[in-house]
Amino acid sequence: AALEQIKRLEGTVHAYVTVDEEGALKQAEEVQKKIEAGELTGPLAGVPAAIKDNMCTKGLLTTCSSRILENFVPTYTAQAVENLEAAGVVVLGKTNMDEFAMGSTTETSAYGVTRNPWNPEHVPGGSSGGSCAAVAANECSFALGSDTGGSIRQPSSFCGVTGIKPTYGTVSRYGLIAYGSSLDQIGPVAKDVSDCAAILEVIASWDRKDSTSIKRDDCDFTSALTDDVKGMKIGIPRDYLGSGLDVEVKQAILAAAEVLREKGAEVEEFDLSLVEYAIPAYYTIASAEASSNLSRFDGIKYGYRAKEYEGLHQMYKKSRSEGFGPEVKRRIMLGSFVLSSGYYDAYYLKALRTKALIKQAFDRAFAKYDVILGPAAPATAPKLGESLSNPLQMYLGDIYTISANLAGIPGISVPCGRDSKGLPIGLQLLGDCFQEKKIIRAAYSFE
Ligand code: GLN
Repeated sequence: AALEQIKRLEGTVHAYVTVDEEGALKQAEEVQKKIEAGELTGPLAGVPAAIKDNMCTKGLLTTCSSRILENFVPTYTAQAVENLEAAGVVVLGKTNMDEFAMGSTTETSAYGVTRNPWNPEHVPGGSSGGSCAAVAANECSFALGSDTGGSIRQPSSFCGVTGIKPTYGTVSRYGLIAYGSSLDQIGPVAKDVSDCAAILEVIASWDRKDSTSIKRDDCDFTSALTDDVKGMKIGIPRDYLGSGLDVEVKQAILAAAEVLREKGAEVEEFDLSLVEYAIPAYYTIASAEASSNLSRFDGIKYGYRAKEYEGLHQMYKKSRSEGFGPEVKRRIMLGSFVLSSGYYDAYYLKALRTKALIKQAFDRAFAKYDVILGPAAPATAPKLGESLSNPLQMYLGDIYTISANLAGIPGISVPCGRDSKGLPIGLQLLGDCFQEKKIIRAAYSFE
């Protein structure tokens, strides 16, 4: 059914870079046998899913939506995907994204844009736009996305689906092609909170192949699906409701807060300081790490190599110039600049200090509140083409999501209504480190 839906809708939506029909059907047959033999009994056995194209899949093209990886077929599978396959999940294919996960609309992909299934004139958000559009269009039952600065939560909100960015270290990054390694986390995108909790339970695991992965013994996330928010303390940062927030989005967020209040939660506004420093700190750190991570794409070890060149240097230069798109080049230049010796202290080090202060601001907030509530994005999905011409404007749209990555804390985006154009609005709930169950519990009350 998922493959049929893909055939029906991909012409319009274009959520996938690669659909692996043959592989999926073969995998499905094997899973079926194991289910019948009683070897696979979990809730994900036989469920068809899509994987963002920045996660390595053995034998299956993995492009990061970049020309530089147009021929890259990995020899190993990302740990999170391996966990899914061990649970019997059938991988349908790889989803479109912003090139190397840099962007907020999926328009920086080298393989064409993805369209919002609710209105094809609008973007699905990004960078996990393909994953979220595929879920919204029923072109899979769920998908994996990655979130470095909102890339699961923002497109989930634009596509009317649910997505979780877990606490940093919860899901192994082994096999996730790095963007900003200190911020990147893989997470589930699904139809609802229950599905997300079940998927997160499977992909969360300690992994010796990722030195930042954490051993946790509290990953029974589905136990938080209780529809009970009585006594929960919920804070809304006043700064998240100020100018720049679309009126209809604001109304929907406040209405959602009211639902929680009616169900017995204590909801109040508070001042979360330093909000205005999150964007500059994030773009400094993420670009710095990206410039370093992307230095491995040199035309020798993987992917694209320029056809004509003289000598090694020109080969590097031409392969990278032709292989990377404009947004990726902008980040490499910005990152190299803030890391260069004369500017390191003034920019990179200052951004790291800001990151530490932002974490402290969240620590203070979570001493008082169980959950922080706010919008996932300042507005609903823009029209195709509106954001590309103005990168700064696009960066500003990340205001509500990126501080969670700087602080390493978990966040969820759940649908909470529609604007007058019929486009979905997303509510974001943030929790303290390792408190996924609290945000799942609060989010479940909207199900
Ligand atoms: N808009 C953010 C960026 O471009 C999204 C990053 C992400 O989460 N992958 O950096």
